[in-house]
Amino acid sequence: MTQPQLSPASDFIREIIDEHLRTGRFQGRVATRFPPEPNGYPHIGHAKSVCLNFGIAAQYGGTCNLRMDDTDPAGESVEYVKSIINDVRWLGFDWEDRLFYASDYFEQLYQFAVRLIKAGKAYVCSLSADEIREQRGTLTQPGKESPYRNRSVEENLDLFARMRAGEFEDGAHVLRGKIDMASPNILMRDPIFYRIKRATHYRTGATWCIYPMYDFAHCLSDSIEKITHSICTLEFENNRPLYDWILDQLKLDSHPQQIEFARLNLSYTILSKRRLIELVNQKLVKGWDDPRMPTIAGMRRRGYTPEAIRAFCGRIGVAKNENLVDLSLLEHCVREDLNERAPRVMVVLRPLRVIIDNYPETRVEEFECPNHPQNPGMGSRSVPFSKVLYIEEEDFLETPPKKFFRLSPGREVRLRFGYFIKCVNLVKDPKTGKVVELHCTYDPETRSGFAPDGRKVDATLHWVSANHSVPAEVRLYDRLFRVPDPARDGDDYSKHLNPKSLEILTPCRGEPSLAGAAPGSRYQFERLGYFCADIADSSAKKPVFNRIVTLRDSWAKISEKEKR
Ligand code: ATP
Ligand code: MG
Repeated sequence: MTQPQLSPASDFIREIIDEHLRTGRFQGRVATRFPPEPNGYPHIGHAKSVCLNFGIAAQYGGTCNLRMDDTDPAGESVEYVKSIINDVRWLGFDWEDRLFYASDYFEQLYQFAVRLIKAGKAYVCSLSADEIREQRGTLTQPGKESPYRNRSVEENLDLFARMRAGEFEDGAHVLRGKIDMASPNILMRDPIFYRIKRATHYRTGATWCIYPMYDFAHCLSDSIEKITHSICTLEFENNRPLYDWILDQLKLDSHPQQIEFARLNLSYTILSKRRLIELVNQKLVKGWDDPRMPTIAGMRRRGYTPEAIRAFCGRIGVAKNENLVDLSLLEHCVREDLNERAPRVMVVLRPLRVIIDNYPETRVEEFECPNHPQNPGMGSRSVPFSKVLYIEEEDFLETPPKKFFRLSPGREVRLRFGYFIKCVNLVKDPKTGKVVELHCTYDPETRSGFAPDGRKVDATLHWVSANHSVPAEVRLYDRLFRVPDPARDGDDYSKHLNPKSLEILTPCRGEPSLAGAAPGSRYQFERLGYFCADIADSSAKKPVFNRIVTLRDSWAKISEKEKR
């Protein structure tokens, strides 16, 4: 499989790599990795990292590994591993035979720890977690050395082996690096490398009762895989000296360069696995693949394309400082892609019955309609026209305000691909007073969409033939949160959920070409937006469509209004 080409534009990471290639630091090699922890489904922030790591490897003719960073048994599972594999592949990337698991390195990591102990660079500490925290010091005060810091190598080796053998309770001992309790970098004050934790690991089961900490496992996993550039997010900047220290003490030939970049923050969105798990568990959404979720699974189900997501990741680029990317940019990328590729169809979301009084009862005309206005290569389909139609409820007003140009009593409009019709009468529900049916006349001379006498109409409406139309359920999705920064109140984010993020309309009426729409197929519903046949719920018997995105950015308008 060929890797998709991403933004060829350079950035500070590519500049660093260029420099390494020039100086021969890694003998001309470029090897990256995407290292997710399988404790949740990947989200759009992960997509940024995926595109960056795989994109760099492709651009430099290098390799990118997919590595499950699964050294903490809590919350990790096969379900999450599968989601990661599936989503990275769907995004269009290929790791060939380089799918790795940090848990496969447990024995090697243990042996590295033993080597550090032998070198006098690590010791078993028997302080409690609280004591270790208390003695760590602060930004302004140095830490205190542990009373166990000067245990002999023999004692440390013995205790560490017995930790592994399960002789001690959880928390009784930890293995710590012997670095510098006075270091201005708190992470360098004898950090913990191993802890005792009796937990079943989804891959290694009960084989281990000690587990390595992230900082210990990550640099060594990178080194084992001979990674050259270990790209991670900014919050790991202070961990870099520790990353380097461990590799230096072990004198490992393979010493990757850690490079940090700013994580993606997206407006109206929460990108934290912990909180996304809460949304799922508290049933505030319908699952990891709920189309409102910022997960890759959610976006796929909503109808986003991998091309659009990759284009978005290319557009935002990588930088060294945090910022908030506007969700509209992602939606723009989705529109831009779908505008090119989505065939046009007509669907009426809220049907209003229209009877063409002067159209013959049994007559049916077939209109040949292009599937794409600019791309004849996408072909055409036939759309039936008959005496009884549906139009959109909101395209008619009995007493229209000044700027309403659509249908109203006495007014003439064009039907898309067809005739001019004029409203001559209406029928109301006697109880509610709601307009339930319109009577119109059509002008047979306007089949081309134009009147021979040159008269003009101000609006063109979409429509379907009532008898030929297929009923469908349509799910209108909107932003999950109604404020740009839903995490601004910390854990209280759920109060910012948008109560109108999902509206289900049924039965809507689609043109007959939509019968049997394959799940996952995407369309532009004329005048309404882009829609996708739901991959889970849509069937030939009962088509279900998700709104992917509206045709225009209605949120921009709303916030403009609010400013005024
Ligand atoms: P979260 O904060 O959502 O729990 P995480 O960083 O703990 O994410 P990991 O599975 O460790 O999740 O992430 C895998 C990779 O994806 C890491 O290299 C991480 O830096 C990167 N990543 C995670 N979130 C983002 C983001 N918002 N933007 C860019 N990269 C990200
Ligand atoms: Mg992480």
